[in-house]
Amino acid sequence: MKYIQTTYPIQHLPAGATHEVCAYTFQGSLEGPSIYMQANLHGPEVFGTALLLEIIEHLKVADDIVGSITIVPVANPMGVSSVAHNAIVGRWNQTNGVNWNRIFPKHVEWKNHQEEVLYFKEILQKQGISVQDKLAATLRSLSVGSDYVIDIHCTGTHNLPHLFCREDMSEEFVALGAMVHLVSDKETAEETFEESHVYPFRNHMAYEDIPKACTWEVSGYGTIDKKELAERKEQLLCWLEGVWGGNTADGVEIKKFSHFGNLKSERAGYYVWNAKVGDVLAKGDTYATVYDPHTLQKHVLRASYTCMLLSTYGIGALSEGEDLAWVGWN
Ligand SMILES: [Zn+2]
Repeated sequence: MKYIQTTYPIQHLPAGATHEVCAYTFQGSLEGPSIYMQANLHGPEVFGTALLLEIIEHLKVADDIVGSITIVPVANPMGVSSVAHNAIVGRWNQTNGVNWNRIFPKHVEWKNHQEEVLYFKEILQKQGISVQDKLAATLRSLSVGSDYVIDIHCTGTHNLPHLFCREDMSEEFVALGAMVHLVSDKETAEETFEESHVYPFRNHMAYEDIPKACTWEVSGYGTIDKKELAERKEQLLCWLEGVWGGNTADGVEIKKFSHFGNLKSERAGYYVWNAKVGDVLAKGDTYATVYDPHTLQKHVLRASYTCMLLSTYGIGALSEGEDLAWVGWN
C-alpha cells in the first residue's frame, strides 16, 4: 500500500536543527474506521516505536485496508533525545519539569470535531508558544476525528502489559491482549493524550461518536526485547483485524481494576523483590526484602492490601516513601 508521509516542525534549536514529528497515513480503498496510533511520548518508552515501525512495514506490503490509519512512531523527539548516563530521562521536559503526557486539553468542551480542529488551529497560528503547547496541538491535530486512538507507553523495568481506558470503552480494546484494564470514569486533573479525546465531548456527543481511546502500557522502559516485540505485533495486528471487521479476540481474559497507583517504599534501604509482575499479593503476603545498611537489619515487607503487581520500577535503593511499583486493585 502507498502511504502519505507528513512532517511537522515542533521546535527550532539554536544551532539550526529542528525537532520534527513525522506522521504516516495509509488510506484504504473501502470506507471504514479511522485509526490513530502513536508511541514514545515519554522519552524512555521506546518499545512502541519499534512496534509501530513493524506495523508500518506490514501495511506497506498489505493489499488494502478498510478505512484509514495514521501512525506517529516518535511522538516526542525532545523526550527521546534527553539522555543521561546510559538512560533516556525524557519523561518530563528537562527545562521546566512538565510531564509530557499532562499537556493535552481535557477540561474544555467541544460540541463537535470542527470545534476541536479550530481549537488546535488557533494555537498553532500563534508565534512563540511553548514547546508543550506546540507538541500537544500538533499531535492532537493529527488525531482529530479518529474513531480509535491508541497511545503506546511503557512502565517500569518489568511490566505486565496493561491499559488505561474509560470503563465503557474497555471492550473495544480486548484484542490488544493486555491482561489488565485499568478503568476509571472518575474526573481527574490529569491531562493525558488519551483523555483529551474523550472528556471534552462527554456532555455533547453520543457514546458512539466519541473516539474510543486507550493508553497501552506494552513493555518496560529503555530496551526492546525481540520476543516481546513479536508478541505485541501479533496482538496489535489482531486488534486491527477486529476493527477492520475480521478476527475477534475470543478467549482473551481481562482483569479489570478500578483502583491503581504507586506502591510506596515503607522504609529506606536496599530492595530485593520476593514477587514478580503479574503476581497477586494478598494482604499479608511478602513482596520484598529490605537491607538496612545503618542497623544491619533485614526486613521482610508484607502487602497491607490485596493488589496485583503490574510494574516494578527497577530502583534497588530507595528512601522512605518513594515509588517502588505500580499496582492495581478493586
Ligand atoms: Zn508513558
